[in-house]
Amino acid sequence: MPHEDILDIDTIYIDGRFVTPHGTELFDLHNPATGAVTGRVRLADEEDARAAIAAAKRAFPAFSRTDKAGRIAMLQRMADAVAERRGDLLDAIIDEYGAPVSRAAFMADHPVNVLREAADLLADYPFVRRMGTAEVSMEPLGVAGLITPWNSDAGFICGKLATAIAAGCTAVIKPSEMSARQTRIVTEALHAAGLAPGLFNIVTGRGDRVGAAISSHADVAKISFTGSTATGKAILRAAVDTLKRVTLELGGKSPTVILDDADLSRAIPLAVSAAFMNSGQACIAGTRLLAPRSRLAEIESLAKAAVETVRAGDPRDPETTVGPMVSRTQWERVQRYIRIGMEEGAVLLAGGEGRPEGQSVGGWFVRPTLFTAVRNDMTIAREEIFGPVLSIIPYGDEEEAVAIANDTIYGLQAYVLSGDTARARRVADRIVAGRVLINSLAHDPKAPFGGFKQSGIGREYGSFGLDAFLEPKTLLGEGV
Ligand code: NAD
Repeated sequence: MPHEDILDIDTIYIDGRFVTPHGTELFDLHNPATGAVTGRVRLADEEDARAAIAAAKRAFPAFSRTDKAGRIAMLQRMADAVAERRGDLLDAIIDEYGAPVSRAAFMADHPVNVLREAADLLADYPFVRRMGTAEVSMEPLGVAGLITPWNSDAGFICGKLATAIAAGCTAVIKPSEMSARQTRIVTEALHAAGLAPGLFNIVTGRGDRVGAAISSHADVAKISFTGSTATGKAILRAAVDTLKRVTLELGGKSPTVILDDADLSRAIPLAVSAAFMNSGQACIAGTRLLAPRSRLAEIESLAKAAVETVRAGDPRDPETTVGPMVSRTQWERVQRYIRIGMEEGAVLLAGGEGRPEGQSVGGWFVRPTLFTAVRNDMTIAREEIFGPVLSIIPYGDEEEAVAIANDTIYGLQAYVLSGDTARARRVADRIVAGRVLINSLAHDPKAPFGGFKQSGIGREYGSFGLDAFLEPKTLLGEGV
């Protein structure tokens, strides 16, 4: 690629201005569909993190006193500004992240939607409540550190920032270094919304430097993190000395339980979509398909046929549903898990190691993969792969299905597929997960999102999400 096509991102956003970072490390950005270097980002360091935190701290006193109407207007301006850049964002999501165009359209709209939803939520949120003889007011926590992953960059930045703003908190955002182009577009859009300087600051840098500096800084009151469980634990440890409030949205190993009365013509496509959504790079992916032994042969053959028709490849092809993995590391990780699955005795029904036929060797393409005869104690059933690899785990009766579903360190999401909704509901009630979807891939932004067990701490979205940026303060006595 000629040099002039390389995008250089050499500023970060602090105190309402694009500034040159103190950090000097350059990090290459790639197009995952070709492997080519498409840009270079100059990364922030700890000193930049401290400058961003100081700006957010200065902005907090005035911002925390703004009223609902003012903040609703800000959120609407931010939503309008991000909507203005939809075209640029869509291109960046495809070219930098590798999302197939079908998925990328949703991902380009999502940040706008979460900003608008926060405005709606704020309109109805009771900041002051009467409890017994007391008046309880929900007070913003202070400076919030928002740390986000690469698998939905703009959505996570805007979702977390929207909630912080709704609550009256100022923010320092640390996005993934691999998403710098998407982050740049969102930053420019949010800048154009004309918020007060310091209200939000965006410092792209390495997790173990900028992320760690934010998670341990005394002037940060709250951390909202989405990412891997390992990093979540590191953040929780770093946050303990200053007793930060911490929300963690982490990994998953979600079960899709097909009951023996399910209509398989509906259940199998749904199970395959649940597994391969966002090219399999989704924390909520249904990666363990629990199949009743009485219908195992049927499920295996239908699932194999369905997985074989999943189009993996060029993200710009509208037929593609599985794009390239975001990075070489992620590609190698998926290959490694496929190898481990074979070594541990799982039976390969579709896909496997290597690239799909006809795909360029430069791109980080993987083959949508289906294993059967998987036991729940195998590595591929226990660890999050974060790629399009689905494991069929046979079970005997409903009791065993529930036991297997819950036999995981995770508890983010689950799917129950059945012809009898009352029965599905009974099974759903017994599954330990933050969300259980019955015969559906539905989402509701007003409902809380987050995990049980090692899938996280706390909830995002809706009033639970807003509560997490606030602290109740009780007033008692005369004049209350
Ligand atoms: P990651 O944990 O490696 O990184 C996430 C973010 O944390 C990045 O910005 C990274 O730079 C930063 N980070 C890394 N080390 C840090 C440290 N020591 N201190 C502070 N910050 C640090 O995750 P990833 O690879 O970017 O994303 C994939 C993971 O995210 C998967 O495990 C997936 O399940 C999870 N995820 C969870 C949800 C959810 O809502 N539960 C949603 C999407 C992704």
